[in-house]
Amino acid sequence: MNAQPFQLTILSQSSLQDYMDCAQRFKLRYLDRLSYPAVETEPTLENEKHQQEGEYFHRLVQQHLIGIPAEQIAKFANTPNLQRWWANFIAAPDLRGLKDLRGLYPEATLSAPLGKYRLLAKYDLIALQDGKATIYDWKTYRKRPRNEWLAARMQTRVYQALLLKAAAHLNNGKPFEPEQIEMIYWFADFPNDPARFAYTSAQFKRDWDLLLKLSEEITTAPSYPLTEDRQKCLYCTYRSYCERGVRAGTMEQAETEMEAEELFDVNFEQIGEIAF
Ligand code: SF4
Repeated sequence: MNAQPFQLTILSQSSLQDYMDCAQRFKLRYLDRLSYPAVETEPTLENEKHQQEGEYFHRLVQQHLIGIPAEQIAKFANTPNLQRWWANFIAAPDLRGLKDLRGLYPEATLSAPLGKYRLLAKYDLIALQDGKATIYDWKTYRKRPRNEWLAARMQTRVYQALLLKAAAHLNNGKPFEPEQIEMIYWFADFPNDPARFAYTSAQFKRDWDLLLKLSEEITTAPSYPLTEDRQKCLYCTYRSYCERGVRAGTMEQAETEMEAEELFDVNFEQIGEIAF
């Protein structure tokens, strides 16, 4: 299969996470743009349904945050998962009063230069209150990940650093200070146990330095090796291409890893509109 030369101009938390997990996966997906539709986890149908429901849930929340009443939204929560997630969302103490805030930016996109690239992120929600900027991310994971795992993810690092770099327009033209920024992962199936991450200047420096280093590495890398951690191949769409196995891993095999759950993360480009 011949790779098409492609000039990569944008980096995101997903592409950077792929690079961190496996440089070869990054190359195949973002430089060669190779579609290789292997099943990512078993059982396939059940997982596809879960993913679609996750995307639909994000859309329901977004519609609610832009003003559609909860009762109306509830009519669209028409599967057991969606009903439970929606009921949890409405009842969650950490989210109470959220929709009444004036500074709400659901599905906001921010970007900033990063080396030769633009770093881009799409946020589920940025909420401004009392001089503080809170990033919310909705997760429909079936397992509650450990905070340490989340803290190390590129999503946490990119979202916080980019908010500081690229959201001055939300703060009267002044960049947010790190201490004004917090990120909250809210889990639709674990509504009373969100993960909260405050931010500091030292963390910002650490994150931005890492992002610059990665962008430089990606530009100059002489090769993109296959990961040595074969566990990562279990849930990778390229595993037969790389001759790293044919069958997909199951959710049960992901007892200690969250890779399988990550597959259910929402890609905004794939979310369709819902007519209300
Ligand atoms: S199958 Fe393994 S080595 Fe190949 S791209 Fe995926 S993670 Fe990397």
